[in-house]
Amino acid sequence: MVIKELSYKVHHLQARRIRCEHCGEPFTCLVEGEFKVATSGIPIVNSDEAMHKALAKQAGKRLRAVDGKFGREVGLCPGCRRYQPWMIRRSRWTSFSVQVGGALAAMFLAFGIFCAVFISGSGTVGNCIVLASISAGAGIGISWLRALPGGVQKKRKDPGAVPDADMNRLFAHCRETEREPLVEWYLSIHDSPPKDRVLVSLGCRDLIGEEFFPPEFGSEAVLEQLGDGE
Ligand SMILES: [Zn+2]
Repeated sequence: MVIKELSYKVHHLQARRIRCEHCGEPFTCLVEGEFKVATSGIPIVNSDEAMHKALAKQAGKRLRAVDGKFGREVGLCPGCRRYQPWMIRRSRWTSFSVQVGGALAAMFLAFGIFCAVFISGSGTVGNCIVLASISAGAGIGISWLRALPGGVQKKRKDPGAVPDADMNRLFAHCRETEREPLVEWYLSIHDSPPKDRVLVSLGCRDLIGEEFFPPEFGSEAVLEQLGDGE
């Protein structure tokens, strides 16, 4: 039996406006992410149209879930050029959990070396502990260095975090050219659309609750177009 498969990858964009905990200025971050939707069916039984509908339904559900997940924003405050404390904490933790895997592998390697040395008659348990500590320490050190830095970042550039004035300029430009603001923003950073992915804008969401964004560009309007996922 021939099974037909349909799938695609979605690269989603959402603008989220937050208030800086350091200087109190509001700014907007471009939040990006990806997921894949897939479905399979039997050609005679399942029409292409029905399969595409199933994919659209899946994608709609996933996009709704993305809209409800906060705390994943990353952006350098354009006002004081610092990352938010919670962004740094999360970045350190994410980086740390990746490094812990590497550190554990290194500890096992150290243990293996110890056993080999011990069996040959010249090693001690101390050697193993020292090697394991060095590898664990290196893992923690590397994860710290790879995470977002604390303090003022004078030289760092972040085109994915902008003040209100820049957002207003973007909206004015998009009204004139009839373009989608977040796709425009994405293309100004990356030059070309993502390869083999469908670029989807989830619109703008003001997490401060000031309703700064024009309703036409808001996430509510986008989600309404997606339907209720049924
Ligand atoms: Zn700030």
